[in-house]
Amino acid sequence: MKDSIYGLTQEQLQDWMLANGQKKYRAAQVWDWLYSSRVQAFAEMKNLPGELIAQLAEAFTFSPLTVVQKQTATDKTTKWLFRMEDGLLIETVLMYMEYGLSVCVTTQSGCNIGCTFCASGLIHKQRDLTAGEIVAQIMQVQHYLDENGDDERVSHVVVMGIGEPFDNFNNVMNFIHIINDQHGLDIGARHITVSTSGLANKIREFADLHMQVNLAISLHAPNNELRSSIMRINRSWPLEKLFAAIDYYTQTTNRRITFEYIMLNDVNDHPKEAHELVELLSPYKKLAFVNLIPYNTVVEHPQYSRSTPENIAKFHDIVFKGGINCVIRKEHGGDIDAACGQLRSNMLHKNTIGVRVPVKKVANA
Ligand code: SAH
Ligand code: SF4
Repeated sequence: MKDSIYGLTQEQLQDWMLANGQKKYRAAQVWDWLYSSRVQAFAEMKNLPGELIAQLAEAFTFSPLTVVQKQTATDKTTKWLFRMEDGLLIETVLMYMEYGLSVCVTTQSGCNIGCTFCASGLIHKQRDLTAGEIVAQIMQVQHYLDENGDDERVSHVVVMGIGEPFDNFNNVMNFIHIINDQHGLDIGARHITVSTSGLANKIREFADLHMQVNLAISLHAPNNELRSSIMRINRSWPLEKLFAAIDYYTQTTNRRITFEYIMLNDVNDHPKEAHELVELLSPYKKLAFVNLIPYNTVVEHPQYSRSTPENIAKFHDIVFKGGINCVIRKEHGGDIDAACGQLRSNMLHKNTIGVRVPVKKVANA
């Protein structure tokens, strides 16, 4: 399988040019075609010599993704189901926010973290996505916007699709580097958010990179007993270790942290947990930002349902009055299969397409 041209940083492409007997500046020209003109074939790169076009076409593909399905909701949220070259399926979502156009990308072909409420975790990870496959998701969406002719640009990226980004650390960091490059898509680091289930060692590694990228932690419970019962990652990285890494991150970067908290009816949404959350986050008053997420029900997880709006509002008020920044996440794409992994999960169940991956339940250890 050839690599996607989207998977190379500009420096890597410069090195490739030199290694292939070409001048370094050709890399900037190629990047201009890729990310400014946004052509989709090497033959369209008019200022390149024919020999180089042939070399590039020999070495690289463009997008390694083909569209299997696309759904658009009434609020314009658009979700793609893509097939990668080896047949595995992934999802990408475009959301129209007040502040711009945000794309949610997938980083792994499934997830081995196995959170008990999540649709993505129903399928074991077969492999990590390459940087090219992650950048290609943004490019597919950008090409769709270009074709619609409204001159709209992807301005924000959330790494919150299928997979655990910190379990595919190097490729995700390369992806960020590529989309952030001002000679490429130029998506500002502050407009990029990476969400992790809490791999504490990787949070430290991420802190050491001193990126201006936003970090979101999937907290979902304020104590170890409850968190371990819904997220088995908490058994490897319990709250003490997670918060030691968060301390390191905030001290190293002085950046704010978002805490995601899914509202699961009668599981983690009582006033007791709201008060515990205030206590847990009170040392981080200036830096913590809590995002309460109304749960999207998943057919394979019938034990979970969404908290009532009253309970979500009550929980919010306790946290907010406790002095912690807190918002209830606005929902997007309510009338399509909007939650992470749901479109793919539903497709697998309907058995409408040939896929390599079996539908397999992750043991909720
Ligand atoms: N693996 C990473 C990023 C992908 S999941 C992580 O867990 O953080 C992105 C967010 O969606 C996480 O906060 C996750 O807990 C949440 N999520 C998963 N399933 C969901 C569902 N059915 N409804 C609402 N949020 C969900
Ligand atoms: Fe994986 Fe995140 Fe889903 Fe947990 S919530 S199973 S870490 S994708």
